[in-house]
Amino acid sequence: MRIALIAHDNRKQAMLKYVAENRSAFEGHELFATGTTGKLVKEHTGLPVHCFLSGPLGGDQQIGSLVATGQLDMVIFLRDPLTAMPHEPDVQGLLRLCDVRDIPVATNLGSARMFADDLIRLKNTK
Ligand code: PGA
Repeated sequence: MRIALIAHDNRKQAMLKYVAENRSAFEGHELFATGTTGKLVKEHTGLPVHCFLSGPLGGDQQIGSLVATGQLDMVIFLRDPLTAMPHEPDVQGLLRLCDVRDIPVATNLGSARMFADDLIRLKNTK
């Protein structure tokens, strides 16, 4: 599967812990990420990640264009619900496109953990 990872600054540590804890779920999938999130995930886990621009500089929109053109299967976007973001319109645009295309999108750790469990289940049924 083609999976996008995005974390706002206050959620980056949570993202790194989450990906490291669920490394086996993500192995063998194609990972994409906004710039800083992707760089940190690569450094922290050693998993290969295609990095786009940083979110505030257009990375969310780049990931949105992959969703719009059917090139992504899952989005894990750990949002910071307590901080105003200059690129909030881009965030809304990406989430909207996920709904347009029925792409599974997790915006918090609870749903992200369920997605990782599903990835493991899919691997075990192959
Ligand atoms: P970043 O972007 O991974 O480049 O920090 C994430 C975001 O804020 O959308």
